[in-house]
Amino acid sequence: MPAASPPAVTRFAPSPTGHLHIGGARTALFNWALARRLGGHFLLRIEDTDRARDAGPESVVGILRGLEWLGIDWDEGPAPDLSADRDPRGVGPFRQSERRALYDDAARRLLEADLAYHAFETPDELAAMRDLAKREKRPFRYDRAALRIPRAERFARAESEPHVVRFRAPEEEVVVRDEVLGEVRLAPGEVDDFVIVKADGFPTYHLAVVVDDEAMGVTHVVRGQEHLINTPRHVLLQRALGCRTPIYAHLPLIVSPSGAKMSKRDKDRTVRRACRDAGLAEPPPGTVEPAVFARWLADKNRQMEQGALARLAAALGVTLPEIDVEDFRAAGYLPRVVANYIALLGFSPGGDVEKFDLAFLAERFDLARIGKTGARFDYKKLLAFNTDAIAAMSDEDFAERWRAWCLEFAPEVVRAAGAEAGVSPTWRVLAAALRPRSKTFADAARGAGFLVTPDDEIAYDRKAVDKALLKNDGEGLAVLRDLRRTLAGLTDWSAPGVGAALGAFAEGRGVGLGKVAQPLRVALTGSTVSPPIDATAALLGRDRCLARIDRCLAAVDRGRFDGS
Ligand code: GLU
Repeated sequence: MPAASPPAVTRFAPSPTGHLHIGGARTALFNWALARRLGGHFLLRIEDTDRARDAGPESVVGILRGLEWLGIDWDEGPAPDLSADRDPRGVGPFRQSERRALYDDAARRLLEADLAYHAFETPDELAAMRDLAKREKRPFRYDRAALRIPRAERFARAESEPHVVRFRAPEEEVVVRDEVLGEVRLAPGEVDDFVIVKADGFPTYHLAVVVDDEAMGVTHVVRGQEHLINTPRHVLLQRALGCRTPIYAHLPLIVSPSGAKMSKRDKDRTVRRACRDAGLAEPPPGTVEPAVFARWLADKNRQMEQGALARLAAALGVTLPEIDVEDFRAAGYLPRVVANYIALLGFSPGGDVEKFDLAFLAERFDLARIGKTGARFDYKKLLAFNTDAIAAMSDEDFAERWRAWCLEFAPEVVRAAGAEAGVSPTWRVLAAALRPRSKTFADAARGAGFLVTPDDEIAYDRKAVDKALLKNDGEGLAVLRDLRRTLAGLTDWSAPGVGAALGAFAEGRGVGLGKVAQPLRVALTGSTVSPPIDATAALLGRDRCLARIDRCLAAVDRGRFDGS
């Protein structure tokens, strides 16, 4: 009987940066989908050999949460709560910092076979060599100076002297067969003697990735095109170590609408532009230190700390572009919509199909359907997808999910609708009224502002007042005065009860419902936009409605609409 072929194994191998960038999420999604379609394993490996950058367990949790939120599950890797690893094949551990012995062994083998060598240049010496190359306008390449030291002496000095280990790159042509890009050829001698073990004894990314992909039986490496430059190095290392070369697929870059690589810098760019447009010389109070602000404003490459940037954006009333999965979650997008949208960044299932769920992707995913050129992130399209998805939700589903989101991101809305303990009748009415007009959960929370704002803090929009109350010799104002009397006598304050009363009132005056609804809406919310007027009034209840009408009438009488 022929031996069963080993399962397909794909992996997502993030560095623990604390956040799941949208590009990383797409890499994870495609690896997940490929493993599912091939009936194989999808594993998660934490590439934490860069000790300077490692930020502790937190930095992993953010990534795991992001994956879970998107609905991407992994067969092997750290458990979501970091309790124990999932390791059905016994290929763990999954943190590279815990796999040192494997890298040490690989480096030792290469050194013994003279396929790698110790090098003793200090960082300063290397910097000087780089400077010289720059001045002479040639690319820097390590000149193998260490190889002029006799072999035995190198090994002896390595016992006590700081050193790195360099791979002795062979003069061979490297051909990478890429499922997306086709054959990528590198002429002999193009790969330099890159470092495989750093001065701190930790492996570089190149060594760790090659050793781990082999040890974990990884069959397919699907990753961003920014890694293409590394792949020839990996292929040469695989040959030197006798490792199998996996199937490669390099994904097109994701670019922001401006055409630049989508990164956190987009947030700085957005806020900096708003500051310049507003002619801001000093930061608004309570946002950021003036000196920090001035340096950041003057230097387009400088990044501001996230918290300060968010405060500045809020003070200026600008929305930060979403970059990390967490940003999209906080902005109130549905996870399945985000997963659907990021799947389209470089992949198309064919035909006109654009909207699909993860189950569909797991069935249809195909490396042959990945594009070569950069994928532009279209925020408008994502928002349209989300709007459609919310429109297609049941009121019940929306009420549940929106409440869960508000508990975390807009608790004041939950309190205002008395839904702390669960979906309340008020919450149900509020959610049903807002769902058809909401693009995101955050949008719905803004729409609930009329309920959250205290009665004596409603700010009247000047245009709305003019249009709905003052126009035509105060036609709307007269309606509002009379309506107040009618509403004061109304006993049924349910939405249908209010609706019926408003209908009868309009009919009695021989005017359309709009002529009644708009003046009332301005009195209750300060603007001409709100959920349906019957629901708005029912949600506020009798006392709050009457108080708001009285306050609005008084403001008009005094000619003051700012509530003072
Ligand atoms: N740790 C690398 C990164 O975060 C992964 C590279 C790879 O997939 O080989 O970009």
